[in-house]
Amino acid sequence: MTTIRRRLTIWYTVALGVTVLAFGTLLYLERRASSLRELDQRLLLEADLADRWLSESYSVLGRIVTTAGSGPALDPGISAYLDAVRDYLIVADTAGQVLALSDLTRELDAADLQALTAEVDTVRTAKRSGNLDLGPPLGTVRYLAVRVERAGPEVGAILVATSLSRVAFGPASLLRSMLLIAPVILAGAAVVGYWLAGTSLKPVEGIMDEVDAISDGRSLHRRLAVPMSGDEMARLALTVNGMLARLEQSFASLHRFTADASHELKTPLMVLRAGVERALIHPGVPAEILQSLDETLAQINQMSEMVENLLTLARADEGRAPLAVEEGDLRDLIGDVAETAGMLGESAGITVTSRIPETPVRVAVDRHRIREMLLNLVTNAIKYTPQGGTVGLRLAEEDSAVVFTVADTGIGIAPGDLPHIFERFWRADPARSRTGARPGTGLGLAITKWIAEAHGGSITVQSRPGRGSLFTVRLPREPGHRSSGAAIRAEEVSAHA
Ligand code: ADP
Repeated sequence: MTTIRRRLTIWYTVALGVTVLAFGTLLYLERRASSLRELDQRLLLEADLADRWLSESYSVLGRIVTTAGSGPALDPGISAYLDAVRDYLIVADTAGQVLALSDLTRELDAADLQALTAEVDTVRTAKRSGNLDLGPPLGTVRYLAVRVERAGPEVGAILVATSLSRVAFGPASLLRSMLLIAPVILAGAAVVGYWLAGTSLKPVEGIMDEVDAISDGRSLHRRLAVPMSGDEMARLALTVNGMLARLEQSFASLHRFTADASHELKTPLMVLRAGVERALIHPGVPAEILQSLDETLAQINQMSEMVENLLTLARADEGRAPLAVEEGDLRDLIGDVAETAGMLGESAGITVTSRIPETPVRVAVDRHRIREMLLNLVTNAIKYTPQGGTVGLRLAEEDSAVVFTVADTGIGIAPGDLPHIFERFWRADPARSRTGARPGTGLGLAITKWIAEAHGGSITVQSRPGRGSLFTVRLPREPGHRSSGAAIRAEEVSAHA
């Protein structure tokens, strides 16, 4: 999401940058062209004025060139008027000899003056304009050379010129301003673009959050709110809703199938068990047959347990496993479980201890399910604790919850396995077959987790390989808090057992 937002912002800023650049370039070129036009007009005006001054002076005086000094020159009275011209001005005779210069022109060095004079000399048409590069410091000079026809036979042409650097001031300052303003515009555009992208993508984030909340098969009934806008977001929400409906249907059929299959398997398994049990007590059965009948019975028992567990989970998934909640003292219940655990522990060479509060702990729970949950935990604790170890069962009260803990000094669970132990059919070590030293179905903890969450509670585990495990179930006292959305946290403890 963040990347799309960032990408949109970058593209938006780049697009705006290119637009600003193109706009700035066009503006600069246009300003430059119009400055040159204005300049040409000024030069034309100056040349025209000088031409008229010379022509009228000639028509009044009859002669305007003197040869009194070193060579031919414009009469000082007439050339004085030309001194005042703001730009470079050269009046030349028909042979290209300079007759008069404006004040500014007199400041030119000899080479520059010669280059400009050469342009006057070559005027064959009525007028000619162009650029002349004089090098530093003057740079490029724009000039206009005009032939003078009516100022007597000595006067040939006029050249007016000006340095482009003097007129380039307008566009150059424009360029500078744009370079200064453009980053500000672009930064502003990036901020606005980022905000715009965020605003447009907000509905997507909303959809993502809602889809995120659909964390498991049990929340598939939820649907996204479809915006009234009728735009792409509304279509996206509709598409996701359609997908959820199809998923919900598939899950429902899957659960139905699992529940039906488990249910159908129960009866044949019961018949099988009864047959094997009858055969076992039949007199005269050879020892080796007895042994295989024993193994068969163990397998049938294991399978019955698995089918029973599957049925429980399938019903829970379908929402057809309601809790039979009744209020009572949990101390009786845990006392019962501790007794069973004591017997199991005794045959496994494991000490089972229990700590129960002195005062009644009255909470409304489904006692049958809570008993099943605790038995799952203690049988696991005994199963995964070597001979000589201990298993501790504890009931405690907190402000708003009751807490069951089952601790063992057993083999523990590897950190990498912790996040998986509540998954269905997951068993830590594949080498431990279902029929091996620690038989199991891999469904016990999944059911335990479901029972805890169905009561609005949670289950957490802390474990350290080789040191033991501690399972903690926390159930809220207030039945109103009950939901199935409680999270499972699996974490490793640094020092336990
Ligand atoms: P299983 O029938 O295999 O015991 P569970 O769902 O009860 O299935 O447990 C899943 C897996 O979690 C077990 O196979 C085992 O690897 C691990 N596990 C559960 N409880 C303990 C425990 N107290 N100590 C060590 N490992 C445990």
